Amino acid sequence: MGVANTKKLDVAIVGAGIVGLAHAYLAARSGRSVAVFERNPAALGASIRNFGMVRPIGQPAGGLYELALRSREIWLDVLEQANLPYMQAGSLHVAYREDEVAVGKEFSEKADSLGYECAWLTPDQTLARTQAIRPQGLLGALWSSKELTVDPRQIVRGLPKFLTERYGVQFFFNTTVQRVESSVLHTVEQRWEADAIIVAGGDDFQTLFPECFRDSGVTRCKLQMMRTVPQPQGWQLGPTVAFGLTFRHYPAFQACSTLQSLKDRIARETPELERWGIHVMVSQTALNELTIGDSHEYGLTVNIFDSPSVNRLILDYAKAYLRVPTLQIAEQWHGVYAAHPEKPYLKFTPANGVRVITITSGIGMTMAFGLAEQTFGEMGVAA
Ligand SMILES: Cc1cc2nc3c(=O)[nH]c(=O)nc-3n(C[C@H](O)[C@H](O)[C@H](O)COP(=O)(O)OP(=O)(O)OC[C@H]3O[C@@H](n4cnc5c(N)ncnc54)[C@H](O)[C@@H]3O)c2cc1C
Repeated sequence: MGVANTKKLDVAIVGAGIVGLAHAYLAARSGRSVAVFERNPAALGASIRNFGMVRPIGQPAGGLYELALRSREIWLDVLEQANLPYMQAGSLHVAYREDEVAVGKEFSEKADSLGYECAWLTPDQTLARTQAIRPQGLLGALWSSKELTVDPRQIVRGLPKFLTERYGVQFFFNTTVQRVESSVLHTVEQRWEADAIIVAGGDDFQTLFPECFRDSGVTRCKLQMMRTVPQPQGWQLGPTVAFGLTFRHYPAFQACSTLQSLKDRIARETPELERWGIHVMVSQTALNELTIGDSHEYGLTVNIFDSPSVNRLILDYAKAYLRVPTLQIAEQWHGVYAAHPEKPYLKFTPANGVRVITITSGIGMTMAFGLAEQTFGEMGVAA
């Protein structure tokens, strides 16, 4: 098929997930002409399927934590400008077992020297921050003030609208990018020339640059998720809530010498949680529903069929420790993100002026804006 015409841009972006949107925002804010190409009618990937947690606390101390904090700063800026709802309520890792207390306390003691702003809370102090957890057996919680919650559905729809209205960013939905080469991007009908091209295709490793991913060690992670019906008007979760299981999931807590015995106990007592990589976290949406998850199943081929027993394990755990008006489940789904055993994200430069950016752990909502700023810095595009 012949190419109908060529158009020009400063920055072209493949993918309207959060990584594509973050790059679009930073480029447009600095006065560049920007277009985003999304093959679906709206982004339907990980960016609309997640908890909406902007969660610096999970990041290891040093560069990644700093990047997460910077990302959070830009998030706050864009959320305010776009008038999109968010909660700046921090996070709790709640402990009901002594080994969970040990990790939480050790982390809070090391926090200052590692650069985190955290504190260990007594049960009463914990209950003063949230009404959502069971007081019986509560031993305390690790509190961090830096976490935000956004509503992924509102972000994925609201940010394109804001970027179009405020900065004239062009969005081409239902438009698959078929080929990208140095300074040129091809869709079925058009050829676009751009100084910088950002490929933010999420877990699609096949379409544009399969050669980048072939030997990268990348795989996929499938997560099962649920959402409750709305909680009664006026009821608030407050901080996002995670439990002791979560300590074993985020690299930040590997700084704790007490972590291994917690991991061993969980594997011994509840091998089914270990088998499915289950830990339980809860966030609140703008419509007052609770998002509850999740499990972690790794492999390039994603099982399209969800397991009710995995959802039951998650929900049983949540029911044991949550005290919320209703845990009636309204929606269940799974999401998929790219995963790598060591690297939190991958960046490739397959051609001049082209960057492929794939977040390879469950941190894209947290890191997207920080990474976008970093990418443009590396490319010499002031943003
Ligand atoms: C269940 C779940 C919970 C999570 N919770 C959190 C959380 O609370 N906090 C956090 O920080 N992170 C979380 N994550 C991780 C986070 O959601 C992801 O890291 C992030 O959304 C990845 O964003 P992305 O833009 O790279 O990918 P995606 O959201 O997958 O977007 C990529 C887009 O590119 C489009 N695309 C691909 N190829 C082409 C092409 N050739 N042409 C046109 N369009 C194309 C796709 O259609 C897609 O819309 C979670 C992930 C999951 C799955």
